Amino acid sequence: MLTVRDVGEFGLIDRIARILPKSPIVVDGVGDDCAVLRIGERLLLASCDQSIENVHFCRANITPDDIGWKAAASSISDIAAMGGTPLFGLVALSCPSDTGVSYIEAVYQGLANVFSQYGAVIVGGDTVESNGPLTLDVTVVGEVRGARCLRRRGALAGDVLAVTGHLGLAAAGLYALEHGKDIQELTQRQHRPRPRVREGQWLSARPEVHSMIDISDGLLQDVGHLAEASELGIDIDPGALPVAEALAKYCQQEDINPVELIMKGGEDYELAFSMDCSRCAETMAAIGNEFRTLITVVGRFSDEWTGVRVSGAEFDKAGFQHFR
Ligand SMILES: [Mg+2]
Repeated sequence: MLTVRDVGEFGLIDRIARILPKSPIVVDGVGDDCAVLRIGERLLLASCDQSIENVHFCRANITPDDIGWKAAASSISDIAAMGGTPLFGLVALSCPSDTGVSYIEAVYQGLANVFSQYGAVIVGGDTVESNGPLTLDVTVVGEVRGARCLRRRGALAGDVLAVTGHLGLAAAGLYALEHGKDIQELTQRQHRPRPRVREGQWLSARPEVHSMIDISDGLLQDVGHLAEASELGIDIDPGALPVAEALAKYCQQEDINPVELIMKGGEDYELAFSMDCSRCAETMAAIGNEFRTLITVVGRFSDEWTGVRVSGAEFDKAGFQHFR
């Protein structure tokens, strides 16, 4: 029997996509950070994300409000990845019947706090009994308010690859927690990510920016999706990667390579995007003035190969994939 382990997460998604019917409201279905839907004059964005106990979090390591925070943030980040505005969410919860009520209230407080920070609301959902782990499924609906949204496809050969913020901190936070250490600056990045919604909206209004994704599964895998959707190759310059001081310090102490954490770690919920390199300095200065958000050019797109290279060479395999 062919199992989901055999085909992996992305093989499974391909098979599911073939079953789903087409509809005139669907502008883009499976295959990007959000589905894009035309409802009357409006372009809506829709996405959902699951958080499963002992897969995405361990109760021993995280407070209930941070479980909610992170689940909501990872969903809203998919709206950010397209340059959209989150509008509302639905939350499905399952938990064992002996779970404390105040624990679940704290989870929902965390969820509600993220939505309200981004001007959105949770409008309903579902609650069911689980005979195993606590699970959350957060659906978010947003809209495209500007002239366009950004897709994973659309990068052009010669574009530079740029990222927002610092990378690898969330992965280092997880590594530290798993090794019994709670280092505030790292734990915060692991438990309370802040999706780049405003930056995503701003970037989608710039014609020199051609494609975008959020970094949820590690830089290598996520920019691999940009390369694949755009049918191009990307060469990443590891020396250019934005390594925060806290990450450098921790990695030195623990004798870990920060580049590994950045490439494969994920959960940073920063944005990776492609842009016309001739307007790169101008765009970076403009976004710096607008948000004080660090933007770093970390690579370049090419039509001479497909897939992701690091310093011109194949990098040993990628980010997180379920079922494997
Ligand atoms: Mg995403």
